[in-house]
Amino acid sequence: MSVTPATGREWHLVARPQGWPKPEDFALREVPVAEPGPGEILVRNLYMSVDPYMRGRMNDVKSYVPPFQLDQPMEGGAVGKVLVSNADGIEVGDHVLHSSGWREYAVVADKSAVKVSPETAPLPAYLGVLGMTGLTAYAGLLEVASFKEGDAVFVSGAAGAVGSQVGQIAKLKGASRVIGSAGTDEKVRLLVDEYGFDAAFNYKTGSVTEQLKEAAPDGIDVYFDNVGGDHLEAAIDRLNLHGRITVCGMIAQYNVTEPPAAPRNLGLVIGKRLRIQGMLVSDHQHLKEQFFEEVGAWVRDGELRYRETVVKGVENGVDAFLGVLRGDNIGKMIVSFED
Ligand code: NAP
Repeated sequence: MSVTPATGREWHLVARPQGWPKPEDFALREVPVAEPGPGEILVRNLYMSVDPYMRGRMNDVKSYVPPFQLDQPMEGGAVGKVLVSNADGIEVGDHVLHSSGWREYAVVADKSAVKVSPETAPLPAYLGVLGMTGLTAYAGLLEVASFKEGDAVFVSGAAGAVGSQVGQIAKLKGASRVIGSAGTDEKVRLLVDEYGFDAAFNYKTGSVTEQLKEAAPDGIDVYFDNVGGDHLEAAIDRLNLHGRITVCGMIAQYNVTEPPAAPRNLGLVIGKRLRIQGMLVSDHQHLKEQFFEEVGAWVRDGELRYRETVVKGVENGVDAFLGVLRGDNIGKMIVSFED
């Protein structure tokens, strides 16, 4: 008897959002589950990642990743258990990381699946602290921003998956001062009390420029940008000579329909000789092993802490995604497929 279930649920994009996505832009559909062909595996997804970059894939524009197709399943990082394997080196019962999320069952080519072990780390960690967002933080700070001991670092989106790791890695690597911004007082407290940031502020309750000035009286050397807009403007104001900016994300702009008003002070880049560099985590795969070893050890020893916000049920996938854009999450937002 086949172990392949007859049907499974998957999320389709059914309309391209204008501004903030609405629940009606998505549909959870029950579809037949395909049998895997030669060199393929059938995976029952256990956890999926919902990420801010997915908002960009909902627009029909040329970008570094192709747009989601209408009436097709969306994609994204997921970890699941192998139900059927026609692939050498992958056994039934193995756990794999792959990019066919947003669905309960996925047929995945062997070369697109990476085996992961629940003994080495809890499975959701492969989507967050030891996964894509973790590597983004590691590479974005150490390689893109050329972080060096003694630097003062400011990171926005600091209580999120990438941001919370940037700040802690900076501390572990000898930053002179680490400052974070976040959107609630609870998140701000977490940054200082649990993650060891030297200072943090709530960007919703005051001017970013003024609060950053107070938090960084001697300026900053590195700004890790997850937000854009007023945060980028404030950082440019506060950066010291030869400061570096890693532009990782601009979440404040993902749902706007008008161009942003800031930064208005780009001219300062000249006199301060600032370096502004965009990054894509996919360019930094060569650091993966080093990252996994170093960050894995910090996590094991409790030197680097992390949180996850876990939403249960595939049917709540879109709400979890919208929650990331709203700021509902502390740390990595994960959807668990177990009820
Ligand atoms: P995350 O920080 O875990 O979640 C997003 C957070 O952004 C929310 O929790 C929310 O927290 C904050 N936010 C939402 N709207 C905001 C606004 N208007 N102004 C300021 N903050 C806002 O997400 P993540 O996965 O770690 O991603 C963080 C950033 O990195 C995103 O911009 C993402 O696109 C980018 N990224 C880039 C790459 C790359 O390769 N370049 C890879 C991964 C992620 P608050 O409560 O604090 O507002």
